[in-house]
Amino acid sequence: MTEHNDLVTSTQEITKEALHKLGFDDGMYELIKEPLRFLEVRVPVRMDDGTVKTFTGYRAQHNHAVGPTKGGIRFHPDVNKEEVKALSMWMTLKCGITNLPFGGGKGGIICDPRQMSNQELERLSRGYVKAISQFVGPESDIPAPDVYTNPQIMSWMMDEYSKINRSNAFAFITGKPLSLGGSQGRNRATALGAVITIEEATKRKNIDIKGSRVAIQGFGNAGSFIAKILHDMGAKIVAISESFRALHNPNGLDVDRLVELKEQHGRVTQLFDDSIPKEQLFEVDCDILVPAALSNQITEDNAHQIKAKIIAEAANGPTTPEATRILTERGVLIIPDVLASAGGVTVSYFEWVQNNQGYYWPEAEVNMKLREKMVEAFNTIYDLAEDRKMDMRLAAYVLGIKRTAEASRFRGWA
Ligand code: GLU
Repeated sequence: MTEHNDLVTSTQEITKEALHKLGFDDGMYELIKEPLRFLEVRVPVRMDDGTVKTFTGYRAQHNHAVGPTKGGIRFHPDVNKEEVKALSMWMTLKCGITNLPFGGGKGGIICDPRQMSNQELERLSRGYVKAISQFVGPESDIPAPDVYTNPQIMSWMMDEYSKINRSNAFAFITGKPLSLGGSQGRNRATALGAVITIEEATKRKNIDIKGSRVAIQGFGNAGSFIAKILHDMGAKIVAISESFRALHNPNGLDVDRLVELKEQHGRVTQLFDDSIPKEQLFEVDCDILVPAALSNQITEDNAHQIKAKIIAEAANGPTTPEATRILTERGVLIIPDVLASAGGVTVSYFEWVQNNQGYYWPEAEVNMKLREKMVEAFNTIYDLAEDRKMDMRLAAYVLGIKRTAEASRFRGWA
């Protein structure tokens, strides 16, 4: 809980500072600091044992001044109002950074999907969509996957919304399977987006990706794809960690084998006798560190141990404000989360465009368009940070909030 509150507070503080840098007053901050609309719904679900359980769900629509709101839905026991609100603001920042015609949205249901059957998950997904259906839609608020939600859940939600509206509403939700209007490249988009920002960062730091040493915290969807893409580009993945243990090999781990083992066993670190405690990942000698797990991992306690020259935040909020200050002072280049993880929503935007056009692009085209967006976003933020003597995170917030604040002012909202 406190961790979430810290995240909310630091997001609001940086947003306030960014708005002031842009010349907006406190009135604009009052408008931006909370979502314009926040829904709380209760969803009754018939469980497999015949009982009915009622779940609480939320949907936050941060600001729609520049277009429909957009963002994922998470299924997790720790989902709470404040976090969903803050995450919707983060989505506004991500969409602003990559210049997508969307504001931020976010949803969540308090539940433990690992304890539920597929049928229960289907009923919960459909019930949630029914509960929010009047307030969402292809032109107003477009959901997507997030923590513990996936293409199957998106399919049920799309089907439910389509039934309610009596038409095939593919553009209502993104992250769908390919056979149901999904986009090529969507499942790897977050990882590829992060890698593209890493490539740009290495150019600025005069590091050759080929032969560079990378440590990755988290070997889930984002972490394992990032490892694979960087490995294929010739980088040496010297360490990875999971919830309990880490693997370290200064000469580079066999990433292809790890990915294979992950597919077979779910987790990999426990399969090796020479695994080390997960905390040691941060001490490993490397050029690039990728936190791709949880929030608040890099703190003032361990920031000094970090040897990397580039930190790419593929997770949400992995670095505390104190750690950001310590590392920035030491000249470490931090690629902030709202930039490094913006690839997912960018390809979600492409999916929505393709659904609206009814015309589908090959993967190479999707990846090329993603690259254009990420390269431009990285370099705009990097130059802003240099020119205006800001850290990368503040610069990312400045770029991320600018268009929504301007559009809100033009509309007369603040
Ligand atoms: N949940 C992802 C995010 O936080 C993707 C959102 C989307 O695709 O709309 O960026």
